[in-house]
Amino acid sequence: MKILVFAVNEKDLPEAVGAASTLGGEVYVAGSGIPGNIMSEIAKGAKKAFIIKADTPEQIAQGLGKVYDSVNPDLTITVTAKNVRDAVSRLAAKKNVPFAVDALSFTVEDSKLTIERGILSGRAVAKISLPLPGIISLPPRKFKPATIGDQAVEVEEITVDGESSVKVVERKPKEKGGVNLEEAEIIVSVGRGFKSKEDLKLAFELAELLGAQIGCSRPIAADLQWLSEEHWVGLSGKKVAPKVYLAIGISGAPQHLAGIIDAKIVVAVNKDKSAPIFKNADYGVVADLYKFVPVLMEKIKVKKNA
Ligand SMILES: Cc1cc2nc3c(=O)[nH]c(=O)nc-3n(C[C@H](O)[C@H](O)[C@H](O)COP(=O)(O)OP(=O)(O)OC[C@H]3O[C@@H](n4cnc5c(N)ncnc54)[C@H](O)[C@@H]3O)c2cc1C
Repeated sequence: MKILVFAVNEKDLPEAVGAASTLGGEVYVAGSGIPGNIMSEIAKGAKKAFIIKADTPEQIAQGLGKVYDSVNPDLTITVTAKNVRDAVSRLAAKKNVPFAVDALSFTVEDSKLTIERGILSGRAVAKISLPLPGIISLPPRKFKPATIGDQAVEVEEITVDGESSVKVVERKPKEKGGVNLEEAEIIVSVGRGFKSKEDLKLAFELAELLGAQIGCSRPIAADLQWLSEEHWVGLSGKKVAPKVYLAIGISGAPQHLAGIIDAKIVVAVNKDKSAPIFKNADYGVVADLYKFVPVLMEKIKVKKNA
């Protein structure tokens, strides 16, 4: 079996290679936006590696199309990320092959691919069978990074000459101090239990004490716009996996819970003892956040100074 692995950043690519390594067969590795020396490391032991020189999803799809034609893979494995769904959907449509997203697990037997994926905001798992050749994308940070072997790999650069309807006019690095919720070990997350934007300083103070980042429910970012969208956790926001997720004044709607499935410990603070968040929390505090959070901060300060 020929497997083509593709990703658009150096963090995701080793995970996709790791997933491919569990199947055996010939593995080809393709990446966009990945420097040559890093590609040589990640793709060790693969049959061949390709670096696609492209900016937009449209161009990435063109470059990936070239790689696809030269490899002719049975299975293509990628990791869901910005630009990937767009580029890979274009490829799937062009090649007329099925594309299943966010596979939590996958198996290949008798030319049939079976995947499991979360549905209903992660509350159920659906099993889906697809014919090969096919394409799957994996959620980030679900599969263990690995290489195929130790042998050096030939790396070919793929340039794209086709027109793109999107032009990149400028690139700006993310502003310093930007939020990186996906990497956070502790998250203090705020919801509509906070009565005003000014009151969020309570959460910011607590976060500073704990060395935590600030997350929020959708209304805080989308409706009230008290925080930027980078803080938004949930189905349509960030999926997070901290060691501790502190949900303060958040009711626990399924769409919010969908973003914290991978949190190790969930602590909920809510004044309503029947709030759904308590059913999904490891520790629950039924209290008014305006009374509880200052007391918690005092206790933490005492502990830190002891
Ligand atoms: C398609 C779709 C996608 C969505 N995606 C997301 C998503 O990605 N993320 C997301 O978060 N939501 C999402 N939502 C919205 C979601 O359904 C909820 O409306 C939202 O999560 C509720 O936010 P909340 O918990 O902050 O507010 P509320 O549901 O209003 O809850 C506020 C909570 O604060 C408690 N509270 C009030 N005062 C205090 C106090 N003084 N002390 C302690 N507790 C207090 C209340 O008891 C209540 O439980 C989505 C909805 C749809 C339809």
